[in-house]
Amino acid sequence: MRKWLLAAAGILALGITGASAQNYPTRTITMMIPFAAGGPTDTVGRLIAESMSKNLGQQVIIENAAGAGGTRAPGLVAKAAPDGYTILLHHIGMSTAPTLYRKLAYNPLTDFEFIGLVTDAPMSLIARPNFEAKDLKGVLEYIAKNKEKTSYANAGIGSASHLCGMLFQAAVKQQLNTVNYNGTGPAMNDILGGHVDLMCDQTTNTTGQIKGGKVKAYGVTTKTRVKNLPNLPTLDEAGLKGFEVAVWHGVYAPKGTPKEVVARLTQALQAALKDPKVVGAFADLGTEPVPQNQATGAALQAKLKSEIEKWRPLIQAAGVYAD
Ligand code: ASP
Repeated sequence: MRKWLLAAAGILALGITGASAQNYPTRTITMMIPFAAGGPTDTVGRLIAESMSKNLGQQVIIENAAGAGGTRAPGLVAKAAPDGYTILLHHIGMSTAPTLYRKLAYNPLTDFEFIGLVTDAPMSLIARPNFEAKDLKGVLEYIAKNKEKTSYANAGIGSASHLCGMLFQAAVKQQLNTVNYNGTGPAMNDILGGHVDLMCDQTTNTTGQIKGGKVKAYGVTTKTRVKNLPNLPTLDEAGLKGFEVAVWHGVYAPKGTPKEVVARLTQALQAALKDPKVVGAFADLGTEPVPQNQATGAALQAKLKSEIEKWRPLIQAAGVYAD
């Protein structure tokens, strides 16, 4: 009798999940962003959330769960109900955190369902408007002269700006005085105000300020120049041979989210990445959507796996860890 009851309860539960998955979504969806409002991850999130809302017929709202270098939000999403009403937009930090953090509240590979990749944003090395260096050579001279007094803004250990800063310090064999923010939106305010010297951040945060002449810029981190910043050399061209990093972004749901719901979210993401409004806004910010065949769960899962492997030895060599 007890066995029968348990089996009946199981069938009922499956039925409910199946039915709600078919009607999905019936209410507002929350997209968690691991950094402060006004920063580049937030900007990308807001653009795709607005477009996904149109496709899903329900609002996708943004919740900024900043903290711990971007590791707080994935921890929250990993523990959220796996019903499709809480999702996560994160970037390359999903792949660096497992090596950087001795203790992590989630496993990026096993605690999530994968919706798809979003964009590969270039980064750029910028400085406060009154920073005296005219070019990368000048930056290196300034750092050599001022030693650890040269300050470098980042969004905490595990952020893209932290990663770029680590690569930069290794490339120029100099130590910078790192200043942590809960996102590079607030960090940009301090760059603009002249309170901190340098930052390497996504073009989705820096393009407007570079074009408007509000900050100094020394190079982009991609192999080729960024289309709408044609006068800015790559850091490789400027003298840092082989310097290359791009910030890939992906959308995730908690592990156990029904397959149909994951598929529906992937469909909405793909539609968003074809939306002329999103494509145009991305172009203005120096980036572009991934091709449609990359906006899939399988592509995101494969990317995450390979990026964890790629960054592990480099981070271990740098010897940077967080608790
Ligand atoms: N761009 C930041 C980073 O360094 C985070 C942010 O979006 O604020 O990871």
